[in-house]
Amino acid sequence: MASGDDSKRRLTILGSTGSIGTSTLDVVERLGGRDRFEIAALTGNGNIPLLAEQARRIGAELAVTADEDRYGELKDALSGSGIEVAAGRSGLVEAAERDAGWVMAAIVGNAGLGPTLAAARRGADIALANKECLVSAGSLFIDAVAEGGGRLLPVDSEHNAIFQVLENDQRHAVERIVLTASGGPFRTKTLDEMRDVTADVARAHPNWSMGLKISIDSASMFNKALEMIEARHLFRLRPEQIEVIVHPQSVIHSMVGYTDGSVLAQLGCPDMRTAIGYALSYPKRCDLPVERLDFARLARLDFEAPDEVRFPAIKLARRAMEEGGVQGAVLNGAKETALDAFIKGRIGFLAMADIVEKVMDGLAGLPAATSMDDVFAADESARRAAAKMIR
Ligand code: NDP
Repeated sequence: MASGDDSKRRLTILGSTGSIGTSTLDVVERLGGRDRFEIAALTGNGNIPLLAEQARRIGAELAVTADEDRYGELKDALSGSGIEVAAGRSGLVEAAERDAGWVMAAIVGNAGLGPTLAAARRGADIALANKECLVSAGSLFIDAVAEGGGRLLPVDSEHNAIFQVLENDQRHAVERIVLTASGGPFRTKTLDEMRDVTADVARAHPNWSMGLKISIDSASMFNKALEMIEARHLFRLRPEQIEVIVHPQSVIHSMVGYTDGSVLAQLGCPDMRTAIGYALSYPKRCDLPVERLDFARLARLDFEAPDEVRFPAIKLARRAMEEGGVQGAVLNGAKETALDAFIKGRIGFLAMADIVEKVMDGLAGLPAATSMDDVFAADESARRAAAKMIR
């Protein structure tokens, strides 16, 4: 669809009703809202009232729910507004394919892969929050962005931090990157203490306010595991160049170490709007009313090595990177299945990593994906294998 006003930037937000999605809309509104931007499409899943309210407020052209059964509800909620409505996977792809120069990819999990790819292939700049795109599809996703001709703008706070301090003309001199991890709510807990925790306890992140699944992934450190694989593809690194350090204050968002011994870091208060704003205004910086760091009040920054016995996700990520093939997709598919079962109370917290490891053992040696069909097949096999262990 053609732009109504050429001076306005056209945006789409995939996953607008989630934690990243609502923060993105907040940033868009603070940076001028409807005066500066046109919203081509917004998408959500189950939260129809919020999706409809957002679409009316920002004047979106198209609103899409991923849930086909909720189409009528969304249609009713937007009646008389003139906003187009669609549903299901094809609706998500329709949203992604709408003409918009910048697309926020903030659908949670593997469900984000298809629509994000569709946006990448038509050449949109992709603000990437959905780490699963890179974990599962790796270089195929990078290639799709390159072929489309858009830019890949990392939004995950750690990768956004690295993106901010990585000197493009000095890439040859990058020795390592250091991803920081808060350690989550169980940083100091023993394995016995973690065994019987519920999803409600596991979701309580000490520093960041995030969606349910990523909060639990932070508690198990599977979030960091996904981020290691994400970083590998995003910054074209070898597995041994990726370090993880636990930093409970979440003030340093990640660092790049160079061959001369220098380490460059990006710091800030834990607020995703900084990373989102950077991705939206790149290569310029914008004004955002996020809390400023007060170093005197902060007083100290702590660091400790991650404990891979209590948090085996880290070593599983290393293994996935070293084995290559489709092990990223396998790790993620098995993890998403185990995470859903944990949220439903069907398995314990520690069982998640056990299941992922066994699925990786069972599917080891699959060749590297040459097409997205191979990625989806590996994901599906991993989900089936994990589901069998959960029965
Ligand atoms: P939320 O759970 O808060 O939001 C997820 C979004 O995806 C919602 O809009 C939700 O719709 C939608 N959604 C859920 N299921 C489906 C589906 N099957 N198909 C299509 N859409 C669906 O997640 P977050 O915002 O926390 O995270 C989004 C992504 O960003 C994740 O990949 C996460 O790892 C990543 N990320 C998040 C960070 C954070 O601070 N939250 C930080 C860095 C990365 P509805 O709510 O209407 O059901």
